[in-house]
Amino acid sequence: REFDGIRLEKVREHVWEIPREGEMNVPARVLASESLLEAIGDDDSLQQLKNATHLPGMVEPALCMPDGHQGYGFPVGGVGAIDARTGCISPGAVGYDINCGVRMVRTNLTYDDVRGREEELVDALFEAVPSGLGGGGVVKGTADAVEGALERGVEWAVEAGYGIESDLAHCEDEGRRPDARPEYVSQKAMDRGRNQMGSLGSGNHFLEVQRVTDVFRGDVAEAYGLEEDGIVVLIHCGSRGLGHQTCNDYLRRIEQEHGDLLADLPDKELAAAPAGSELAEEYYGAMGACINFAWVNRQLITHQVRETFGDVFDADPIDDLGMELLYDVAHNIAKKETHEVGVDAEGRPAVGDAAVDRDERELYVHRKGATRAFPAGNEDVPETYREVGQPVIIPGSMGAGSYVLRGGDESMGVSFGSTAHGAGRLMSRTQAKQEFWGGDVQDDLKDGQQIYVKAQSGATIAEEAPGVYKDIDEVIRVSDELGIGDKVARTFPVCNIKG
Ligand code: 5GP
Ligand code: MN
Ligand code: MN
Repeated sequence: REFDGIRLEKVREHVWEIPREGEMNVPARVLASESLLEAIGDDDSLQQLKNATHLPGMVEPALCMPDGHQGYGFPVGGVGAIDARTGCISPGAVGYDINCGVRMVRTNLTYDDVRGREEELVDALFEAVPSGLGGGGVVKGTADAVEGALERGVEWAVEAGYGIESDLAHCEDEGRRPDARPEYVSQKAMDRGRNQMGSLGSGNHFLEVQRVTDVFRGDVAEAYGLEEDGIVVLIHCGSRGLGHQTCNDYLRRIEQEHGDLLADLPDKELAAAPAGSELAEEYYGAMGACINFAWVNRQLITHQVRETFGDVFDADPIDDLGMELLYDVAHNIAKKETHEVGVDAEGRPAVGDAAVDRDERELYVHRKGATRAFPAGNEDVPETYREVGQPVIIPGSMGAGSYVLRGGDESMGVSFGSTAHGAGRLMSRTQAKQEFWGGDVQDDLKDGQQIYVKAQSGATIAEEAPGVYKDIDEVIRVSDELGIGDKVARTFPVCNIKG
């Protein structure tokens, strides 16, 4: 197959390779079915993926997940594993919204309990959870609160009364990045985050009440506390202005301090700090603090959701409604992880014929619009889920299904322990606003599918209309068939708040 001069070879079912040529350090791979590849080849994603292979220290292969589409420099749906000793770290390959991610909260409620009360519920949630562009969060962002969130993540939130003990265990890294360094987050970034602690933000971020429509792997679903017809809540948001500003700060500093590396890259947006440099360490520490902040953000929203459900259903959210956090996944992140890679005779990362052996290497695994999907038995999977594998939460759209997967046995070998993060966009926001009218989309969802959507603005609904996204069922089919993320359950929207 060929798209705009970029040739792809089919390696096997759902695996397409852009062979190494010219300045590429490694080959790149797209994990997709024929139809998804068509969509991926339709924008600049393939060129961006190819460009990313120029990053120093990139380990074979640079990857695009089945939901991939173009992003800032590096495709959304991209996975770049880069040697943490001899390579680099790239803010553009993490994304502006550091630790954008999703969490799912389970409940003991069934669809029958909620039916007929959707509007009451969505109104109450809209009231309780700050959203939109305007300021304001769940807590007042005093200097202490911001500092606590950056340094200690969910631990801070739970101590401050916004969560329960099990929330910690049900979050990656127990909700606290050990290598977070708040001192590397600028004052400007903190000022931007201050009034946004516990807020959805605008645009693509949302809060959705869903019902479980299908269970595919009963034993895993049981371990996750999911049953057919059960009600769950999905929360999608990130680190707000704080993460955005941090990304900006470091991109500018890279331009100033590491112009030489930048000059060698095919796209300025791929700007990267060399591994081992002061700037790489500072960015990594600052990013860790932003990751904590985003976790706190989702935690504070979780608190509001619990309180709201408690009020609406006149019950205790924990004791009666069983509103435990199922899991929280990050989908814009870079993390030092140890993976097995090919090495040359001197022990340096090597690909193809140059690789004489395989070795454990510490890598910056960049997942931008990609989700970690560690398999059963992996030590980084919380103990409660270790036997069945890490929960992976993948939203579809406000008018289609979403999925809970579990990290598949093939993920380590195929995708550095990663899978997709959504359905992925088919068209830009500008294009979406030309195609769709928010009010019509909202009415169609309600009348046609009994989905109640409430948003700060009609434009947001148009930009996020179900038609702007790829086919989520197809994305998940590819993930499942590759064995990188296995289908556990499918959900469907009941009501939704758009930021
Ligand atoms: P992103 O983080 O790239 O903005 O979005 C992640 C994914 O969320 C998108 O690829 C899309 O599939 C999904 N998504 C966007 N809006 C909604 C929504 O309102 N509800 C659900 N369930 N999924 C959504
Ligand atoms: Mn985001
Ligand atoms: Mn996101």
